[in-house]
Amino acid sequence: MTANGESFTIPRTYKAVEYDKPGTISTKVVERQTPEPRTGEVLVRLTHSGVCHSDAAIMQNLWKGFQPTQPGHIGGHEGVGIVHKMGPGTEMSSIQVGNRVGIKWVASMCGSCPACIEGLESRCANGKKSGYTGPGTFQQYLTSPANYVTPIPDGLDSADAAPMLCAGITVYTGLKKTNAQPGQWVVITGAGGGLGHIATQLGSHGMALRIIGVDHGSKKDLVLESGAEAFVDITQFDDTSIVEEVKRITGGRGARAAVACTGNNRAYAQALAMLGLNGTLVCVGVPEGDAVLIPGSDPRSIIFRGLNITYTSVGNRRDAIEVLDFAKRGVVKSHSRVEKMEDLTKVFEEMSQGKLQGRVVLDLE
Ligand SMILES: [Zn+2]
Ligand SMILES: [Zn+2]
Repeated sequence: MTANGESFTIPRTYKAVEYDKPGTISTKVVERQTPEPRTGEVLVRLTHSGVCHSDAAIMQNLWKGFQPTQPGHIGGHEGVGIVHKMGPGTEMSSIQVGNRVGIKWVASMCGSCPACIEGLESRCANGKKSGYTGPGTFQQYLTSPANYVTPIPDGLDSADAAPMLCAGITVYTGLKKTNAQPGQWVVITGAGGGLGHIATQLGSHGMALRIIGVDHGSKKDLVLESGAEAFVDITQFDDTSIVEEVKRITGGRGARAAVACTGNNRAYAQALAMLGLNGTLVCVGVPEGDAVLIPGSDPRSIIFRGLNITYTSVGNRRDAIEVLDFAKRGVVKSHSRVEKMEDLTKVFEEMSQGKLQGRVVLDLE
């Protein structure tokens, strides 16, 4: 029962989309038994889930070092829904039945492993990852720890909130890790992609950075609309002249930082070369198959130019709350389209062909 006396009817079974043939692009809508929330958990009736490139990689077993996906696995890690039931032992929780909450990639943490003690909850050795080591958000019902769901602020549409829970958090923490100050130049590679256009909006409108968006010419309008001050079309330059172009834009100094949103090796190497003195490269895009960090890079150039290389892969609960606040205030809005659960295979096919513009959000109603 909610604070105002409302209660929800919970069906015995519900609809989920599973990966029926992992290793290929294939999904199937199935019926599942509705789970009971266990001690410390809430049962969430999901209404929306964003579709991320990581989901496609996990379904097709594209990431080296990741455990193989089993048939029947449910992906998704940008889920938004309403709490329908509280499990035992949740009386002290700030979450109540009827609250709108988000479920992200890091679904739980133990709080006591070395990573958690270090404050790196996203690296928790015992935590579950939605849609990878635990069931994901491409389904109507999911249980989650009451103390780890993300409150969704009022006034923010659920379909707009969903992409913030992975793409939003990831690029927001990435931009913070650049240590760039307002007014400094920051390069974003893949600036017109699902991550890149959110990074461009947050960086320019939210953090007062001067963004240079690097991407394919077809993405120019989206990148400039997102707030980039300059756009560099990758099809118009080679590896040397693209760096010269960034040097020209930045008055000869090079960029203070680069956030590499694409997993492409060449884009990584170019981004490193675009940095000026004491610049920072933030690795975000995860390469598929074999990859080397910055091909051809010479350690001496890192030492003599005082460069820093760091990473981001999702953030913590505070990062989630902060980026949702930017979204609520309209500083950032993902370009997304809403699709039905039945059409997830088609969405993944479009994604693998590189045809997807912005983000897709599944309607789980
Ligand atoms: Zn993701
Ligand atoms: Zn832990």
